[in-house]
Amino acid sequence: MKYTALQGTRDLLPEDAPKWRYIEDKIREILSLYNYKEIRTPVFEQTELFKRSIGDDTDIVQKEMYTFQDQGKRSLTLRPEGTASIVRSYIQHSLGEKSPLVKYFYFGPMFRQERPQKGRLREFNQYGVEVIGSLDPLVDAEVIELGVRINKAFGLEGLKLYLNSIGCKDCRPAHRDAFNQFVKDKIEKFCQDCQLRLLRNPLRIFDCKNEKCIEALKDAPMILDFLDAKCKEHFKKVREYLDQMGIEYILDGRLVRGLDYYTRTTFEIKSEALGAQDTLIGGGRYDLLVSELGGKDTPAIGFAAGIERLFLVLEMQKKFPPEDEKLDLFIAPLGDEAKSLGLKLLKDLREKGLRCDVDFLGRSLKSQLKEADRQKAKKVLIIGENELKKGKGTLRDMETKEQKEIEFGKLVQEL
Ligand SMILES: [Zn+2]
Ligand SMILES: [Zn+2]
Repeated sequence: MKYTALQGTRDLLPEDAPKWRYIEDKIREILSLYNYKEIRTPVFEQTELFKRSIGDDTDIVQKEMYTFQDQGKRSLTLRPEGTASIVRSYIQHSLGEKSPLVKYFYFGPMFRQERPQKGRLREFNQYGVEVIGSLDPLVDAEVIELGVRINKAFGLEGLKLYLNSIGCKDCRPAHRDAFNQFVKDKIEKFCQDCQLRLLRNPLRIFDCKNEKCIEALKDAPMILDFLDAKCKEHFKKVREYLDQMGIEYILDGRLVRGLDYYTRTTFEIKSEALGAQDTLIGGGRYDLLVSELGGKDTPAIGFAAGIERLFLVLEMQKKFPPEDEKLDLFIAPLGDEAKSLGLKLLKDLREKGLRCDVDFLGRSLKSQLKEADRQKAKKVLIIGENELKKGKGTLRDMETKEQKEIEFGKLVQEL
């Protein structure tokens, strides 16, 4: 029988793992500068949590969740995104009472049963931030700037920031009415998916990538024209702060986001390098989610970003730094006595913090030197019969090919 990784899942092989770590380290470094604290939540939760927060009529809940019954007949779901769990945790641990404003970040795998296509995985990794406790547009500006900063820190080119405000529960109904009026007699102009969306939640049509649907929506009423005074003022401030920091953006009325709990500011950071799958970061306010999930009325804003996608762009734009995984020393023993001495030396060297390894396969000297090369060893210590007799090993510099004798006891100092 042959086993393979399931469709939509992927192995991160050792050759790619350092790049992955590079991404994570850099993001963590920046998040720390911005004083964000890490939070880790379980990968599965009660199904109800996601239905409630993401919305029953979304594609995620309708077709993409990995939902299963456990032995106790409870309905559980592998998390399809990060925000719901964090808000659940925030409410459960009364985190808002300990601090009126919290700034969290997370890393981790998410699960969605999407149709297999390039760049779409069913187990994928995201990082993201959630700032809970403030309605101040200053927070919106910080979160957006942070998203831009992270992508810039990787040296990415061709980044674009798209910005919109989708208003609040007071100003949205008027827009919804105007929008429904607009699409009423155009139903056959939309794709089949969108015709379903028209029945359930018409605004989701804006998420459709189908040319036909984009064209049909060209003159649709935009929420920006319907904002009430408060939402207008909030959005104006966000833009002023961004201008002040020299952050450029493009106003995009189509940016309505697919989730019910989003309010006011929405934004996306895209990379021109990615084509259709071009969104690197998507985020916005979700002032209604905390109370929706049973907490006190608490405003919040955040973003989420796919790590696989970032990985892809960094690879395309050749932004990964050269690997520096050189071995300080490779020990090449010949014979049993030499092997045992080699193992003892390895232990001492590693205790001193040196990266080293030994030949485990009893190979010839020539093969061992070849292996040392493959491992990018800076130096090789050869221990043969002569060396054992003299109590001195032969230390070979792999770059200059120079060799010299060295007492085994003085090896640590020499390296
Ligand atoms: Zn409003
Ligand atoms: Zn469509």
